Parts: sequence; C-alpha cells; structure tokens
Amino acid sequence: MTSSPFETVDCVVIGAGVVGLAVARALALAGREVIVVEAAEGIGTETSSRNSEVIHAGIYYPKGSLMARTCVAGRRMLYAYCKQHGVPHQNCGKLIVATNEAESDKLAEIKGRAEANGVEGMRLLSAAEAIAMEPNLHCTAALLSPSTGIIDSHSYMLALQGDAEECGAMYAFHSPVSAARVANAGIDLEVGGAEPMKLRCRLVVNSAGLHAPTLAKKIVGLPSDCVPQAYYAKGNYFTLTGRSPFSRLIYPVPVPGGLGVHITVDMGGQAKFGPDVEWIDGIDYTVDPHRADRFYAAVRRYWPGLKDGALQPGYAGIRPKTVPQGAPAQDFVVQGPADHGVPGLINLFGIESPGLTASLALAEQVRDIAGT
Ligand SMILES: Cc1cc2nc3c(=O)[nH]c(=O)nc-3n(C[C@H](O)[C@H](O)[C@H](O)COP(=O)(O)OP(=O)(O)OC[C@H]3O[C@@H](n4cnc5c(N)ncnc54)[C@H](O)[C@@H]3O)c2cc1C
Repeated sequence: MTSSPFETVDCVVIGAGVVGLAVARALALAGREVIVVEAAEGIGTETSSRNSEVIHAGIYYPKGSLMARTCVAGRRMLYAYCKQHGVPHQNCGKLIVATNEAESDKLAEIKGRAEANGVEGMRLLSAAEAIAMEPNLHCTAALLSPSTGIIDSHSYMLALQGDAEECGAMYAFHSPVSAARVANAGIDLEVGGAEPMKLRCRLVVNSAGLHAPTLAKKIVGLPSDCVPQAYYAKGNYFTLTGRSPFSRLIYPVPVPGGLGVHITVDMGGQAKFGPDVEWIDGIDYTVDPHRADRFYAAVRRYWPGLKDGALQPGYAGIRPKTVPQGAPAQDFVVQGPADHGVPGLINLFGIESPGLTASLALAEQVRDIAGT
C-alpha cells in the first residue's frame, strides 16, 4: 500500500491580503491550525496595497447588505484594534460635497441611508458651515461623516500577521495554489513555487482577491455555476505635489461604479486624488497620464484652486467585481458549504471597497461559517 502524497493540515487560507490575514488571525485565535499560502513574496502586495486606505463609515451600501453590516461592524472593530495594537490611524472625518442643487438634494438621501446602516453622527451642512470647516472648498451643501478615517494599511496587515503567528499560524510565500480537488476527507490542494506542497485540508478559505473566481473554477468537484465571472474595474490615482488643501477627506456625490474622484491623505501626509472607474479586461496597473484631464475637471468642481500641472500619475488598484459594467451594484459574497454544497470550503468573491474596513468583521463571519 502506498502512503498518500498529501500532508494533512487543518486550515489553509489562500491569499495574504488584508482579508486573508484577518481570516487567518480569527481562525488561529479560535485555536485552529492555520497555514496561509501566498503566491507573492510577502503580505498585501495586490489590492490591499492599492487602495485609498480609508476607514469607511458604512454610508452608501444598501441596508442589510453584507457590505453595510461588515463595514459598520468592521469599522468599530478596526478603530479599537488600531488603538490596542498601535497601528497608525486618524479619525479625521469626511465631507461629501454637493456642487449643484440636484446633488444637494441627494445628500439627505445619502444621510438617510447611512443612518439606516447604523452610521453615527452624520450631519447636513450648509455651504457656509462646510466652507468654515474647509476654507478651500467650493460647494452648495455638504454632509459630514465624523466616523470616517485613514489608516496605515501595511502596519495593520503586519499586526494581523503577528497576532496569527503568536497563535501558531504559518505563512508560505512564493506559494501559488495551482490545483484543487474536493476529496472525501476535505480539500486537496497542490501548491507550486519554490517548495511545492500537496496539502489535504479540513478547511480551505479562498481569499485570493482578484483571482478568487479563477481559483474557484479550478476546484474539481465544486459546481461551476456557484462561481461568478470575474470583472475588473480599475481605479487610477493621481498625487498632488504640495500639501493637501483640506484637513478632512473630501468626496463628491457618488458616481455609478465608485465613490467619485475624491481627495484623501495618507498617514504620511501625501494627498491623492481618485480612484476613478475604468472597466478593463485583464489585470493592468498602468496609470495613463492622459486621464489627468478628467481629474482636473472633476476635482475643480469642489476645489477650484487646483493649479494646472499639480497632479502627477500615482498608482492604480483594481476592484474585483462579480457583475459587469452597468449591472446593479454587487454585494460581498462569502460562500460556504450551505451555498455550494462542498464541506470545508469557503470562497470570498467581490471583496472590493470597503473590504479593508470590513476585514475584521468578514473574518468573524468566515470563522463562524467554519463552525469554529
Ligand atoms: C481602487 C480601490 C480603492 C479601495 N479603497 C478602499 C478604502 O479606502 N477602504 C476600504 O475599506 N477598502 C478599500 N478598497 C478595498 C480593499 O482594498 C480590498 O477589499 C482588500 O484589499 C481586499 O483584500 P483581499 O485580501 O481580499 O485581496 P488582495 O489584497 O488582493 O489579496 C489576495 C491575495 O491572494 C494572493 N493570491 C491570488 N491567487 C493566489 C493563488 N492561486 N495562490 C496563492 N495566493 C494567491 C494574491 O497574491 C494576493 O496577495 C479599495 C479597493 C480598490 C480596488
């Protein structure tokens, strides 16, 4: 009789982005044996380091949606976590600004939606009140979200990694999962890279971000109609030479597919504009400098003082979408055995914004589905 080439492990989390790291931490804290397998050389090299680093309040999402619930809960957990672990963050607040009467009317609707989601402290402001707070602003009215903030996302990810490691979790970098199969006693994974492995896992969490649907399609035994098609909506950023003219984050009234070209500041004080929405067919992070023209036009609606030549191409991130351009907005998909019928498998699809904010709450949800 030949012995199985598969090494038996309890839990494997595929992907060391912010969500995979939070899931690994939650499982490890609950006493599970956890291995995180990551294709890249380190943590958070994809979407988790290509975002706005905003701690979202939970304003825009439909009431009762997973996005709304995990954003509001995750934001509260994230502020507490940052304080406890010394993760650099700032609860700076944000203004959503209207620049004409039609947009002003939308602000009350946005406030109502935010309050239905449990967001605290939302306040409608007249143009004069908003400009008193932010003298460089041009607007006809504004909505203040005091619970919005910013975070050093890499420090946060390092803290999550450290927590999980203290509970015994292990990380394998340069380790792409290349094949998977539903087996009698779990899921079999084949991991390539420098040190190939064959793992028989009691639990697999597919937290591969943009690649999660492609990976799920490779799992022999998982019904293919459970796996959504992957769509990509790129968000380009431009950075500002010089200091930010605002002390809060400034957002326009949202546009279809994204939150509109907003101005945020990172913990290093760098002001950035974006992300816009550019639907693309494959993963490509190049920022086309010509897109700056649209940024100038969008930003000058609320900051007329933006000078020609002040914007430099920055970076881009890609939103993992499960629905195509023009379709109604998607929700996060956390898909467990009750959804797809495969014991020991949890797929995470469409974890776009506010996935960073929601990460701790999403991790608790995965832990609960895992029955831990
Ligand atoms: C433009 C933009 C702006 C955003 N702004 C914000 C914001 O301000 N606030 C907020 O809360 N959220 C924001 N988000 C959302 C947030 O960035 C994401 O929800 C979050 O980073 C997703 O983390 P993740 O771990 O799911 O994915 P990722 O960070 O993409 O991690 C997935 C990991 O899986 C690995 N992987 C893939 N395939 C394999 C394989 N076969 N084997 C092993 N490993 C594999 C990848 O290498 C990667 O490291 C934004 C997103 C975008 C695109």
